[in-house]
Amino acid sequence: MKKELTISEEEYKDLILHYERQIFNLRQLLELAKSFSSVLEYTTLVESLLYICLTQMHVVSAGIFRLEKGGSMSMVFSLENNFVGFDLKPNKAYQFYFDDPILQCLYKDCRPFRIEELIRRVKVSEGLDLMKSLGVSVVVPVAYQRKIGGLLVLGERLDETEDAFSVEDLQQLSDISILAGICINNTDLINQASTDTLTGLKQRHFFYSLLELKLSHPAETDEFIAVMMIDIDFFKRFNDVYGHACGDFVLQRIAYLIKAGIREGDLAARYGGEEFVVMLTNVDEENVHKIAERIRDMVEKDDIVYDGLHMQCTISIGYTVLNLNAIKTSRYSASPAALVDKADKAMYESKRNGRNRVTGSLFRRETGKKLETT
Ligand code: GH3
Ligand code: MG
Ligand code: MG
Repeated sequence: MKKELTISEEEYKDLILHYERQIFNLRQLLELAKSFSSVLEYTTLVESLLYICLTQMHVVSAGIFRLEKGGSMSMVFSLENNFVGFDLKPNKAYQFYFDDPILQCLYKDCRPFRIEELIRRVKVSEGLDLMKSLGVSVVVPVAYQRKIGGLLVLGERLDETEDAFSVEDLQQLSDISILAGICINNTDLINQASTDTLTGLKQRHFFYSLLELKLSHPAETDEFIAVMMIDIDFFKRFNDVYGHACGDFVLQRIAYLIKAGIREGDLAARYGGEEFVVMLTNVDEENVHKIAERIRDMVEKDDIVYDGLHMQCTISIGYTVLNLNAIKTSRYSASPAALVDKADKAMYESKRNGRNRVTGSLFRRETGKKLETT
């Protein structure tokens, strides 16, 4: 005989509510997966992760302590700028070492922890003290293949009367952090693949794709775009006289100086060999010339010390500046290759005229390809 299952109306309502909440959470997770996997850049990814935590967990603050190399080259978890809502004291370092006892606990059980539980388990910990001072209520390891690359921390609830973090909340946080771990790992891989290991600058293909994007969708505020080609003068001598390791050292130093000479938002890449390419926005011709001169001067004046030897080095620069208005009004198009070629020709003119100099010109309309009118 079939036995009827009876539950009260109250229990029935609770059950429906419970499943409705679960469906809602799963939907949110799906949305999250879609948005996370479409973001390929670390800062944007972290930003969206933090805002999702704020809205879904109703907390006043959220942040990520990211694992990175500290000043002493040892690995540290650092909050840096990856947070919203926390009140940080100036001149205080919000970081702690990789071997902090808190990590042992998190490695053992790779899951979200309420702060009270961590306090009970971990007695002495710099990391924990830091989190207590920030008012953290939950700590979630962000891991990929059991390697913890970051700690997601959530502050207090928006509404203090709201219940403590439930098992469901922690489950939701765990799901979010798994997704975040995979996506952060992907952004790391993309970053590594597009970065030149010797100089730390972006590689040529990354440069081309960003230039292509800037040319096809120029920002409203960008009036000009400039491409600069930089070639080290008589670089072969460093290799021939002092050896390849010395050549590599000089390359790294010049890459550093180029990076220091441009502004945030501009992009320097290694073009290949001892050549670099730079993309500058928010500039006009006069500005580009000044920046190029500044870099050239910095390199010329730099005292390169390798293995106790003091060396001098110079560079030749060529640039071209394109007025983006013609592109914005769809009258012309210009290819990344055409711009790089123009800058390259200018660079060779610098070489011909005696090296250690800057040559540049406007990318003229006639150099750009006229768009077909139908
Ligand atoms: P110029 O003033 O005409 O540019 O002379 P240069 O000696 O700089 O130019 P050249 O093209 O003759 O030599 C470039 C050298 O750069 C040759 C190559 O062996 C060296 N090179 C290319 N890539 C690397 C690298 O990654 N490391 C080192 N050490 N040398 C490199
Ligand atoms: Mg060269
Ligand atoms: Mg050269």
